[in-house]
Amino acid sequence: MKLYNLKDHNEQVSFAQAVKQGLGKQQGLFFPLELPEFELTEIDDMLEMDFVTRSSKILSAFIGDEIPPHQLNERLKTAFTFPAPVVDVTDDIAALELFHGPTLAFKDFGGRFMAQMLSYVSGADEQITILTATSGDTGAAVAHAFYGMENVRVVILYPQGKISPLQEKLFCTLGGNIETIAIDGDFDVCQSLVKQAFDDEELKKAIGLNSANSINISRLLAQICYYFEAVAQLPQEKRNQLVISVPSGNFGDLTAGLLAKSLGLPVKRFIAATNANDTVPRFLADGQWTPNATVATLSNAMDVSQPNNWPRVEELFRRKTWRLGDLGYGAVNDETTKAAMRELADLGYLSEPHAAIAWRLLRDGLQDGEFGLFLGTAHPAKFKESVETILERTLPLPDALAERADLPLLSHSMKAEFAELRAFLLKK
Ligand SMILES: *Cc1c(COP(=O)(O)O)cnc(C)c1O
Repeated sequence: MKLYNLKDHNEQVSFAQAVKQGLGKQQGLFFPLELPEFELTEIDDMLEMDFVTRSSKILSAFIGDEIPPHQLNERLKTAFTFPAPVVDVTDDIAALELFHGPTLAFKDFGGRFMAQMLSYVSGADEQITILTATSGDTGAAVAHAFYGMENVRVVILYPQGKISPLQEKLFCTLGGNIETIAIDGDFDVCQSLVKQAFDDEELKKAIGLNSANSINISRLLAQICYYFEAVAQLPQEKRNQLVISVPSGNFGDLTAGLLAKSLGLPVKRFIAATNANDTVPRFLADGQWTPNATVATLSNAMDVSQPNNWPRVEELFRRKTWRLGDLGYGAVNDETTKAAMRELADLGYLSEPHAAIAWRLLRDGLQDGEFGLFLGTAHPAKFKESVETILERTLPLPDALAERADLPLLSHSMKAEFAELRAFLLKK
């Protein structure tokens, strides 16, 4: 597999390099040089396969001979150990639940696959530092995926006081090779600290820097697989006019969905759903890219005003000669999010703020004859406090959360200053 840097098309790397480096020069994102496409009959055959077998086929189409198919299949068996069920909500809308992994969010798919790929492409004695910023769920997925792996040090930055207490417990209580830093600032600030670290060649070399952010291509590729898994679960008549609504923050999930479509998965259109951090919906409405300051919302994993993956979305539309105007979009504020959660509860479906936003825009935008799917990106119990308050009921804690809820937090705190982060990374 060859990938090029979106900021400098002359910089081309292999899959292994892209996985190890995360970002290219000038913090450019890597993008596949070849965009594979399956024939319709191939897609039909694939939709009959089991999740892991089909996922191997999808990922092989991108990765090529850099990883022999049986090796890839073995790695996927280790990474994808939990289901992604489609659950009916109404006659014409269903949820794709992506939160049945160890840290109860869709990020387990990408985090676990990335851990497998990184260990596959790294030398046995190579020391690697994974540095990543999280708006809540990436941190947990990455921490758990890499926990206890030899030669890997994981450093996770998160915005202090801006993620849910249970989200924090899930990844800041592990210790060992997992170090967590609460940054005095918002997610965009954390993300920019990570980018500065990547710009620092000396630091990069000294600690073998890698990012597990959604900018890492391996995470994106893994996420393509569950879009196929969703369609595989739908009866034929619901596959033809399929609309998928994606709750979006950094826009990795949407990029993966669009890549699934580019492979030939029948999806009529996508809806990019955001909260009040609505840089993309405003851009799609008026063509102006004008990020506002990030605001804290109920759907905190989407509190991103400068979404990292957007250049990949634009590149894909350009390469496929799709029209950006065909991309659905919308932004939902906290009040409407709450109302949506209550409406879903009345329909018998327990949700959380992120999924509720995607559902709300889907319900409003669905046309006659279409079938809608929205992504359930996190388990409702991950947002226990707000879900309980909004729905006026108590939620039991799943085991993954219950077993960490009473452990002490091991996080460091830090001002949003690169010099301080740099010193931290270089020590030991
Ligand atoms: C990360 C996350 C999102 C946003 O996904 P992106 O790929 O960053 O757009 C949405 N919902 C939840 C629960 C998340 O953890």
